[in-house]
Amino acid sequence: MNKTILVTGSSRGIGKTIALYLANKGYDLVIHYRSQIDQAQEVVKQINQLEQSARLLQFDISDRKQCAEIINNDIQVNGAYYGVVCNAGVISDNAFPLLTGEDWDSVIHTNLDGFYNVLHPIVMPMIMRHKPGRIVTLSSVSGIMGNRGQVNYSAAKAGIIGATKALALELAKRNITVNCVAPGLIETEMMVNLSQDEITKIIPAQRVGNPKEVAAAVAFFMSEDAGYITRQVLSVNGGLC
Ligand code: NDP
Repeated sequence: MNKTILVTGSSRGIGKTIALYLANKGYDLVIHYRSQIDQAQEVVKQINQLEQSARLLQFDISDRKQCAEIINNDIQVNGAYYGVVCNAGVISDNAFPLLTGEDWDSVIHTNLDGFYNVLHPIVMPMIMRHKPGRIVTLSSVSGIMGNRGQVNYSAAKAGIIGATKALALELAKRNITVNCVAPGLIETEMMVNLSQDEITKIIPAQRVGNPKEVAAAVAFFMSEDAGYITRQVLSVNGGLC
């Protein structure tokens, strides 16, 4: 089908699962990583085994200049993307009185500025394709409800929802949809320090989610059949909110 999708932060965690899930659906992938080239190369290998093409891009999503240079260059050489999944993100949690300026800045620069830094170089070439396009962002239950210890992360993830909805308005008439997936608690490295017994008590489904359940929601927004769905937030959270 020759539709290429960039997934940020796809060397591991939810991003990796999203990339493999999309490859299984017949998309070609651009695998993005910041630090773990071996893991990123392994993802490319697994996608090639599914007979889909994949290439690697490395950049720090909080570095505006680097994002612009590398993404512009990739688009010039390989053409504009059909889709983008803004998945890469970080947490740096602490109770608000203990939250340092660095905790605040790193989470906002990565999660929220990353929205601008990654999408700004991508959107105009996507418009110029004159074909349907798809943008999916990753927020979090924390951005919808607010979460203690995550004032920085809740702010960034709520900001992503606002930015997603506003961009959806701008791009709707261009046949480009912009939607958001908001996971609840999903089993990845981001969760390693949390006690699962305590967590599952507050989740109506009585369990944490798995990355494939997030990937399925992303893949739905990416599909041709979802062309009339834009400016939406889809929670994948076992009924948490
Ligand atoms: P992980 O911590 O497992 O992976 C994060 C990914 O983001 C890694 O690939 C990492 O790359 C990349 N990344 C982090 N910072 C940067 C940066 N500055 N520049 C480029 N890449 C970066 O996270 P998850 O897979 O759990 O989370 C994926 C998304 O889902 C995030 O947006 C997260 O906020 C969201 N989410 C996760 C939930 C969960 O329970 N796990 C719940 C709700 C939302 P590298 O390895 O190179 O650092």
